[in-house]
Amino acid sequence: MKKEVNIDKIVKILDDYYPPHIMDTNYEGQPYKVLVSCLLSLRTRDEITFPVSAKLFDVADTPEKMANLSQDELESLIKSINYYKTKAQNIIDFSKLIVEKYDNKVPDTIEELLKFKGVGRKTANLVVALGHLKPAICVDTHVHKIMNRLGYIETKTPEQTEYALREKLEVKYWRVLNQLLVLHGREICKTINPKCSICPIIDYCNQIIVKKNK
Ligand code: SF4
Repeated sequence: MKKEVNIDKIVKILDDYYPPHIMDTNYEGQPYKVLVSCLLSLRTRDEITFPVSAKLFDVADTPEKMANLSQDELESLIKSINYYKTKAQNIIDFSKLIVEKYDNKVPDTIEELLKFKGVGRKTANLVVALGHLKPAICVDTHVHKIMNRLGYIETKTPEQTEYALREKLEVKYWRVLNQLLVLHGREICKTINPKCSICPIIDYCNQIIVKKNK
């Protein structure tokens, strides 16, 4: 028999189980810092990203200050990050755009944010949700994988998952679910060999193991 996927219970259990994510505790309500640190974090581990972000924001914490850095200066500040050259170029480019076109304010819509080079739906949703504190669903591979394994939705790509969750999931869970499922996907509901035997939400999971998550 199919188990009920009780999102309210899942959120409460995971919220007790995991500490708050460093991005939430440090950058909530600060869209520019969310934008830059999320871009830096792509394909780079958090343990590396966040010390680098903190060091960078000591030097330049606004679009204006960042736009005034040279490519070389920015590269030397973030050189321990993967793809640092491309990321430095993108950060300078969108910082200039924010100053010139958006009156120093980071846009608060997915559509505008997607115009920035290097910014995909995941980053755009996180900027809207965490930076601007507006409803948005940030779906990465962990959210996509776990929502399918739970049996809450049945989708093939993170983008399909985003749209399915927009339809089905109450707005009050949009932001918090991403934070919790990213932690859960890294620690327990791993892509290969999920640790179901110690999973705190097994009572609400149908354990539909999806082999391909992307
Ligand atoms: S029970 Fe297994 S598949 Fe379900 S969320 Fe937990 S680890 Fe993932």
